[in-house]
Amino acid sequence: MSEDSMLKEPIKILEYKASCPVCGREGVVEDFIYEIPYFGRILLTKFQCPHCGYKHSDIESLEENDPVEITYRIEVPGDERALFVKSSSATIRVPEVGVEITPGAFSRGEITTVEGIVLELIDVLKFACESSSDSCTSKIQYLQGVLEGKNRLTIIVEDPTGVSRILSSKAEVKKIRLKEGKQLLGE
Ligand SMILES: [Zn+2]
Repeated sequence: MSEDSMLKEPIKILEYKASCPVCGREGVVEDFIYEIPYFGRILLTKFQCPHCGYKHSDIESLEENDPVEITYRIEVPGDERALFVKSSSATIRVPEVGVEITPGAFSRGEITTVEGIVLELIDVLKFACESSSDSCTSKIQYLQGVLEGKNRLTIIVEDPTGVSRILSSKAEVKKIRLKEGKQLLGE
């Protein structure tokens, strides 16, 4: 019970039909509420279109939140298993390999793990590497080494909505203020 990486079962609160933004036919929306320890409740909305296969999800907090910056270090095997509540407005940076995931039209809000994010970063790099050099490939190898417990990694998450969380006592959460023009300011 005291395990800070535990999530209670989500509660499904709604299911309704909506038209698919891709093909225009009818898809299904499902809303779930998750109770996040030390944080509160979040709403996860999933859309799925049975016709064209389009999927989307997003999360929002049902609590009031300030913008946050989260720093998390993968140092020993097992650290990558921490749960990661990622909002679609989060920017994720890993200084060791100089790659980032920025919010955009295709950003999804999701509940994943730190490992899931490292895999996403590998995908981002694979795409970038198609037209690139050896240094790109060595970054992928570095990230794969992180998942094998051989390399360390620092993950920095900036979220102006304050919804994102890494569920571990090792995660450092800092409240930040937003400067005009979306730049982030330390406090
Ligand atoms: Zn569709």
